[in-house]
Amino acid sequence: MTKRPTERLGVTTLEDISTLILQSHDLGETLNNIVSLVAKRMRTEVCSIYLLEDDHQTLCLRASKGLSRKAIGKVSMRIGEGLTGMAAEGRRPVAIQEPQSHPRYRYFKETGEERFHSFLGIPLFDRKNPLGVIAIQTTETRQFSSEEISALSTIAFQVSSIVINARLLDSIRTQEEEKNRFARELEETRRSMAEPVPAAEVGTETALRGTVAYPGVVSGPAHVMGERLGFADILGQEGVEVEEERQRLEGALEKTRIQTLYLEKRVAERLSEDDAAIFHSHLMILEDRSFIDKLHREVDEGHSAPYALEKVLSEYIEAFSRMEDAYLRERAVDMEDIGRRILGNLVGQENHVLQLKQPGILLAREILPSDMAALDHEQILGIVTEAGEQNSHAVIMAKSLGIPAIVGVKGAMKAVKPDARVILDANSGCLYVNPAPHVIEEYSRLEQDCSRELNRLGEYRDLPAQTQDGTRIVLRANVGLVSDIDIALRNGAEGVGLYRTEFPYMARGNFPDRHDQYLLYRKVVEGFEGHPVTIRTLDIGGDKALPYFGHPREDNPFMGWRSVRISLDNRDIFATQIEAILMAGVHGPVKLLFPMISGLEEVRACRALVAEAEETLRKEGIPFAKEIPLGVMIEVPAAVQMAPQLAREVDFFALGTNDLIQYMLAADRNNPLVSKYYNPLHPAILQVLRDVSAVAFSQGKGLCLCGEMASDPLTLVVLVGMGIREFSMPAPFIPRTKAFLSDLSLDLAREAAREVMTMTDSIQVRDYLLKVLKELEQGSRPQ
Ligand code: PEP
Ligand code: MG
Repeated sequence: MTKRPTERLGVTTLEDISTLILQSHDLGETLNNIVSLVAKRMRTEVCSIYLLEDDHQTLCLRASKGLSRKAIGKVSMRIGEGLTGMAAEGRRPVAIQEPQSHPRYRYFKETGEERFHSFLGIPLFDRKNPLGVIAIQTTETRQFSSEEISALSTIAFQVSSIVINARLLDSIRTQEEEKNRFARELEETRRSMAEPVPAAEVGTETALRGTVAYPGVVSGPAHVMGERLGFADILGQEGVEVEEERQRLEGALEKTRIQTLYLEKRVAERLSEDDAAIFHSHLMILEDRSFIDKLHREVDEGHSAPYALEKVLSEYIEAFSRMEDAYLRERAVDMEDIGRRILGNLVGQENHVLQLKQPGILLAREILPSDMAALDHEQILGIVTEAGEQNSHAVIMAKSLGIPAIVGVKGAMKAVKPDARVILDANSGCLYVNPAPHVIEEYSRLEQDCSRELNRLGEYRDLPAQTQDGTRIVLRANVGLVSDIDIALRNGAEGVGLYRTEFPYMARGNFPDRHDQYLLYRKVVEGFEGHPVTIRTLDIGGDKALPYFGHPREDNPFMGWRSVRISLDNRDIFATQIEAILMAGVHGPVKLLFPMISGLEEVRACRALVAEAEETLRKEGIPFAKEIPLGVMIEVPAAVQMAPQLAREVDFFALGTNDLIQYMLAADRNNPLVSKYYNPLHPAILQVLRDVSAVAFSQGKGLCLCGEMASDPLTLVVLVGMGIREFSMPAPFIPRTKAFLSDLSLDLAREAAREVMTMTDSIQVRDYLLKVLKELEQGSRPQ
């Protein structure tokens, strides 16, 4: 296999780039961040960036770590002048020891650079055009090795794209300021004149930023998901024309019925017929004679249709909320949902989400899991949300669908009009609204590069995952929706390592019964044609709530009543799910997985329920899978400690590192304030993973790692080196993981695992692994 220098810059480098961009507010700050980062990575006293001025002749020092601050913006040279100019002129690296004695050396007294005894300059390019030079210097006399030169060249490649990107942003900002100034002047002129002047067309090009949730570059029209209207938005409008208002009401009801039918169909296709049933009951309410009569009566009395709606809905909602029966109480939520949709139609607010007619970028304040379930995924090229949770389940779904997404984009809903043209750069976390032609041109090139890369990775889909020396690794998919099956198959997943069953529960109005669940699980099992499917029992609580399941308010929901704890306290619900899973096991290899296990008592209680479920099915004469493999998620520190005892009572372990990291390091996985403590490379985490794996291996038990860290090459090297051979991840990561593994030798992975186990801090671990990856990328690492 041929090596490509950018082949595995992948996730880690993308992270670095987006972190830099996100931390910066303008080009100057971006450059300052870059030089500090590079000096640290390359372990040099100086890193400087020189950029070409508009005259295309002069290089000017724009940022430096290590040279005197006074020199920034002052020191400049022509292309060809001095060693820096020589790198730009020759378009190749210049590496020199004792630069002062070089004939082309030129001294700039503002820099104070006489202290430095080695110099390495690499040119920066924008395609073929020179852009500047990145240079490093050291106080020691250092001969830069070929590895160091290629490392800085790789960095220079990234720096070039950051500079291009930052310049684009800067130019947009300048243009915006220009336009605002123009608009202000226009307004002043208008005010100073007696006659009103027609409003001028002022351009709206904008660039917004957010946090990358799933990388990629896409462009298209914006699908703006309507705000959910609240009752507070309904204004009392009296004195309306009765007949007109009646027609308006009828029109809105009819439109809502059609939308509901459409929604029912969509969910039936995406999830299952049973998940769609909730919309059928909505339809019944929309056609209910007494509901319609009440609305008309209010209108006949001279009230506006929105007012009538508010009044009748509140009566219904209040009545339902007071019901003793839990099922009837839940109907209050349905009434609210229906009311919101009728209201949207009354005030002419289109629900773009449900009628995506062409591919585009979805923008929303937030996207609920049930929205994701109902959306037409084929039409969603990218996702942008104002809400900022990176580990939210909507984001997990976007990842499993492989849709580029950024979150936490403040002001997006205000800045983007429906159908506006947008470019989503989910590599650097930027959203360009109504971009200028030069931005469009730049990005169409990038989009082409990205799709070429996807095609290249496509070659790996049907190849088995294995290391360079032929060690077989099993890559399975994490799935949640029925539509994930197709995506998992298209990406070459060998079955499912984690089926999160809570998603189908979230999209419904009530707990599905046994038959509904059986049909759903069967669909997934049959979809994978003989590959194993690990079905995890309900993992609600924490950040995952079911709208219809009364959940108490807890101060520490992640430490509270969640997951298997809820299941064990609701035996009927739990038994129903286990029975459905056993029934689905008749249609293909199924494994049963219990989440959040913290001790043997829970495992035994779960086992007892499995035995009871078997007995029930036997009595009912229903076929079911016998001796289904039972496993536990290792995601609570107590389970780590008890791993040897747990292993004796189960068939396999699933390493749930998403939760394990948060519980081990006491750092909430959704809290940005502590995200720096949430570190998969913490030595405590690596030691625990090694120890748990060793227990599984020594007792001959299965082991699959299904947390997000499975798809990051940086951590994957160590995990493979520890001996883990089975991983489960969002399906779009599978081809690139196969590509990565095919270049990795087992010896190298083992050496990396051995080395990091001797290290005592995560910075050391990260630096070491970055070095290993970089060398691997450049093909310079002996394997
Ligand atoms: C985990 O905790 O690592 C895991 C895979 O489960 P979830 O992300 O659903 O909690
Ligand atoms: Mg978990």
